[in-house]
Amino acid sequence: MSRAVLFRIYVLSAIVIAFTAVVWTFSVASWTTVETLLFYAALVSVAAWVRVDDDTPGFEAAVVFAAILLLHDPAVALISVFVGTAVYHLARDAGRRTFRLDSLYDAAQLALSYYIVGLLYVSAVAKDAQLMAKVSGYILLVIGYLVAHVFFAAIRHALDASRDALDVRRLLVVQSRMLLLMTPVVAVEVLCYSVYGMLGFALASLPVLVVAYTMRNESDATQQNTELLRRNRELSILTEGASQILSAEGDQETLRRMVALLGRLARLKACAVVTWGANPDIPATVYRHGACQPTDQGILAWVESAGFAASAPSRAFVFHNDQRRFPLSEGNAIQVLIGIQTVEVIYGILIYETEDPSILKSGSINLLTLLANQTALSLQDQLLRREMGEKTTQLEAQAATKSLILDVANGLIGPHDVDAMLTRIAQAIRKALGFEQVVFALFDAKRAEFTRRAHAGLDDLWEEMRRKPVASSEITAFFEDEFRVSNSFFVSHTALQQSEHGVFVRHDDDILLRPEEWHENDLLLVPLVNAEEMIGYLSVRDPRDQRVPNVGTVQTLEIFALQAVSALQSARQYEEIRRLTFIDGLTSAYNHRFFQEALEKEVHRSVRAGREFALAMLDIDNFKRINDTFGHPVGDEILKGLVDEMMTNARDTDVVARYGGEEFAIIFADTPASSARDAGNRMRELVAKREIVVPSIGRTLRVTMSIGVAVYPHDGATTTDLVARADAALYFAKKNGKNQVAMAGELPFESALA
Ligand code: GH3
Ligand code: MG
Ligand code: MG
Repeated sequence: MSRAVLFRIYVLSAIVIAFTAVVWTFSVASWTTVETLLFYAALVSVAAWVRVDDDTPGFEAAVVFAAILLLHDPAVALISVFVGTAVYHLARDAGRRTFRLDSLYDAAQLALSYYIVGLLYVSAVAKDAQLMAKVSGYILLVIGYLVAHVFFAAIRHALDASRDALDVRRLLVVQSRMLLLMTPVVAVEVLCYSVYGMLGFALASLPVLVVAYTMRNESDATQQNTELLRRNRELSILTEGASQILSAEGDQETLRRMVALLGRLARLKACAVVTWGANPDIPATVYRHGACQPTDQGILAWVESAGFAASAPSRAFVFHNDQRRFPLSEGNAIQVLIGIQTVEVIYGILIYETEDPSILKSGSINLLTLLANQTALSLQDQLLRREMGEKTTQLEAQAATKSLILDVANGLIGPHDVDAMLTRIAQAIRKALGFEQVVFALFDAKRAEFTRRAHAGLDDLWEEMRRKPVASSEITAFFEDEFRVSNSFFVSHTALQQSEHGVFVRHDDDILLRPEEWHENDLLLVPLVNAEEMIGYLSVRDPRDQRVPNVGTVQTLEIFALQAVSALQSARQYEEIRRLTFIDGLTSAYNHRFFQEALEKEVHRSVRAGREFALAMLDIDNFKRINDTFGHPVGDEILKGLVDEMMTNARDTDVVARYGGEEFAIIFADTPASSARDAGNRMRELVAKREIVVPSIGRTLRVTMSIGVAVYPHDGATTTDLVARADAALYFAKKNGKNQVAMAGELPFESALA
């Protein structure tokens, strides 16, 4: 059973007991007349009207005590007090258009306590006792009254949760002062009654009323005075608060100062402040003070469940004792709940508890609201300052990135090796954007695959990766809207599984939500696009901050990707111009000079990488006969047709050159001895099958070629050696019946020496 219910039962039973006692006294036990009782009731009612304040019954005691002494009848006390104060309360409530059961209870409680002390007196002092006995009886009466009064107040306080703290000392002091004051009046009343009867008694009560009335005014004045003092104190708290709170450095310090000021407003028992910034990603924090019992998690959970982040109370909410929504401390306390917020943003919520009822004054509540608002302003100010600080750092980082982009751009001016340029950009990306692994891959249209060409941060892994091409479909599978971020594609590891080539392919399972943490299998791809054609991609991994990059970072990456594209474009243009000076005028194969340079480079590259490559020398079989039969122009057509066939079928990295006359050379890059013969034979077969259209004679012709192949470094470590060895092999192929491939490494002894 809750205390509120118990209190109701107690109040009702006190009223019922008092009421029953009144009826019983009237009907059975009374030996005093009804007129007498009503006379005293009327006097009590007037005394109650001038009562010093509502909480301190007093001057009706002068009437009642005198009546008990004179009439020696507790019923007088019971009936006159109950009826008198009940009439007074009902009249007052009617004037305010309210009715409160509490008022009747106050009447019943007073009546019962007077009745008890009345019984005590009557049973202790005989009606015709001597004066001294009566005086000591009066003292007993006074003490009994005090005890009964405190007793009822204590019960009431214990049961009524909404009442303020019980101050027994103050109660006793006020009551004792009252009793001391009215004791002479009681004596005068008794004397006047003896001489003038009831009228004398009533007249003797007049000074009581006058004294009570003046005391009441005085009390009002003191109250106003205290009120003024309190206001003053509040004002000073407010002005100090404004400067203190607003000058605090850091959220914690702001809150600490706010709580210190609250402590001056009312003694704090426990206090918890939950604050959160405008950014929902940053978790809320709890500031606690005093005997705050729930854990931080508990407080956070409650604040969340109450929905304060969405709308905090803009005025203070007050809860008493058991009604507290989220008790912070044990025992009774007044709880105040208020939002820390500006007009636009809610920064937090303040929950605090005090046992000091002065907090309930409207001035205190207003002040509290003002303090909370000032705190919100201070928090806002600090948040703005922090955000500006972050923005500045961000801008500085962006400026650094921009200067790196510029550096890269400057570095790209002038002829460069494509791979070297891409490596330069990859390193810049690694430095500026913090990705530990950066890879550039370029598209080989003939083979429909990507070749990784440059990297930053891969080190040991690089050689292996470089050699493994990536099938076009493995990459383009990711270029879908569900992965798109700006013009790039972020593929979370949850959508991937590893393919046999060590790249990641799409997972069939449903894609999970993208987490903010970077996962080692996450993938970020930026396509390199030139004139709507994808020429390669840039892929980055392992960001230093281990977060999934934001759009800003992705867009910066795209700037680097654009640089790579334009670098590739200019490199290709440069190659094109260069090619034109190194191209054979008739056939569009590379000329002899280019061939010599290319062979030189290939040797260097292969030395560095420890790789093998093949050199093929090709010569048309019986070409003199063609010239003799159809004339030189037809011979020229044949040469063009052959070059076209060879160049179409060679890889991008292979070099097809006209060595001279009707002799050609092909550098098969990155081709080991084991596959060199196949490369040569493939070319030979393609040429033999090719029907070369010769419009001038209106027919097609076919020719065959003999091919000699030498492999670096087995057949020769220098360009001269290699050419000589390939030539020797070619000579052998001619001698051996033409239209065939001869390997330099397999020549018979005498041919090998040639
Ligand atoms: P084989 O190589 O099979 O031993 O016999 P062949 O008849 O092809 O002999 P060889 O390689 O020595 O032939 C060289 C001939 O190629 C000489 C020349 O008439 C012809 N030739 C060389 N350069 C050109 C050219 O630019 N245009 C034309 N039409 N013919 C050329
Ligand atoms: Mg020849
Ligand atoms: Mg020939």
